[in-house]
Amino acid sequence: FNPPLSSSCVQVSQYACQRRTTLQDTNRIFTDAFDILAEYFEFSENKGRKVAFLRASSLIKSLPFPITAMKEVERLPWLGDQMKAIIEEILEEGKSYKVLELMSEERYKSFKQFTSVFGVGLKTSDKWYRMGFRTLEDIKNEKELKLTKMQKCGFLYYEDITSSVSWAEAETTDQLIKSIVWKFVPDAVVTLTGGFRRGKKNGHDVDIIITCPRKGKEKNILHNTISVLKNQGLLLFSDIIESTFVETKLPSKHVDALDHFQKAFLILKLPTQQTAIGDIIDPCGCEGRKWKAVRLDLVITPYEQYSYALLGWTGSRQFERDLRRYTTHERKMMLDNHGLYDKSKKVFLKASNEEEIFEHLGLDYLEPWERNA
Ligand code: ATP
Ligand code: MN
Ligand code: MN
Repeated sequence: FNPPLSSSCVQVSQYACQRRTTLQDTNRIFTDAFDILAEYFEFSENKGRKVAFLRASSLIKSLPFPITAMKEVERLPWLGDQMKAIIEEILEEGKSYKVLELMSEERYKSFKQFTSVFGVGLKTSDKWYRMGFRTLEDIKNEKELKLTKMQKCGFLYYEDITSSVSWAEAETTDQLIKSIVWKFVPDAVVTLTGGFRRGKKNGHDVDIIITCPRKGKEKNILHNTISVLKNQGLLLFSDIIESTFVETKLPSKHVDALDHFQKAFLILKLPTQQTAIGDIIDPCGCEGRKWKAVRLDLVITPYEQYSYALLGWTGSRQFERDLRRYTTHERKMMLDNHGLYDKSKKVFLKASNEEEIFEHLGLDYLEPWERNA
C-alpha cells in the first residue's frame, strides 16, 4: 500500500527557500486564481493581502500532489479561511465565481491593460484611472497626454513586447551580447539569468548579468556594449542606470528593495531566424518582418558581488522575498543582491558561488529550476 503524498505526511516550510519548487505545478487551477487575486490586491493598493495571496500561491506551487480534497490543505501554512473558501469553491465548481467577479471589476480591467505597457506602473495607472481613462484606446486617442520616452516605446512596440520571449530568442540575445562583450573583455563572465535560468521556456524579458574577474574591468562594459548595439542598428530603447553602490552600507531591510548595480533596461531590435526558402511558417509571427522588439535587462557587477547578484537576479521574486525574510528572522543576518551581513559577528560573508551562500545561511542548496516559487 502506497498512500498518496499529502500535507498530513509532508512538512511544508513557510519559507520558499526551504521548499523545492519546479515548473511542474500540478495545482495551476488554484495558483492561477491566487496569482490573479494577488494582482487584484496590488491594483487596489492592499499590500498585505497581495503578499498573503503571493505566499499562498507560492506554497501551493511547491506541493508534489494535486489537491483533491480540503483535508489535504488543512494544515498548510499561509492558507487562511478566505483562501480555503476559494480552494473549496474551485474543488466543487471547477472555478471560483468570487475570482471571476473581482476580475470583471472596472479598476482591475483597466490596470491590467495599463500595466501591460512597458514603462507604466501602478502610479501612472492610478493617475490615468483617476483622469477617467479606462482602456489603452482611451490613452492612444488622447493626443495631449504626456508620455515618457519609455512609455512611448511601450506603445510603439506593444505587440512584440507583450508577446512572450521564447527560449530561442533568449538564446539569440545571449549569443549577441556575448559576442559584443567578449570583443572588449575576452574574460568577461556573461550569464543568462532570470526566468530562463530557472528553466522557463518563455519570459517577459531576457535578463543577463555581466562581471569580470579582473578588478574594475567590468566598468566600461555597459556603455561599450550599448554603443555597439546602437551602431549596429539593434537598439530601439535604452535606459541606463549608473551604480549607486556604497561599500559601507548594510544590506537593505526591505524584502522588495532594488539593488544598486549599474544596469540598463533595453529594447532590442532582435534579428529573427532566417527562414529557409519555401518556409511558410514564420516562427515569431512577425509576418515577413526580419526582427522582433525584445526587452533586455543588463546588469553589471563587481566580481566579488557576482554570486549574490546572480542569486538575486535568478528569482523568482517570491523566492527572493522568502530568502530575505528567512535570513532576517531565522539567521539574524541581512541579505541583498550585493552581499550577506552577519549581524552578530559584524562581518560581510564572502561567497564565490551560490552554493556557498546557501551554506552560510544553513540552507540545503536549491538548483535554479527549484526556485520557481
Ligand atoms: P519573466 O519571465 O517575467 O521575465 P523573471 O523571473 O525573469 O520572469 P524579472 O522581472 O525579469 O522576472 O526579474 C528577474 C529577477 O530579477 C527577479 O527575481 C527580481 O528579484 C530581480 N529584479 C528584477 N528587476 C530588478 C531591479 N530593478 N532591481 C533588482 N532586482 C531586480
Ligand atoms: Mn525576466
Ligand atoms: Mn527582468
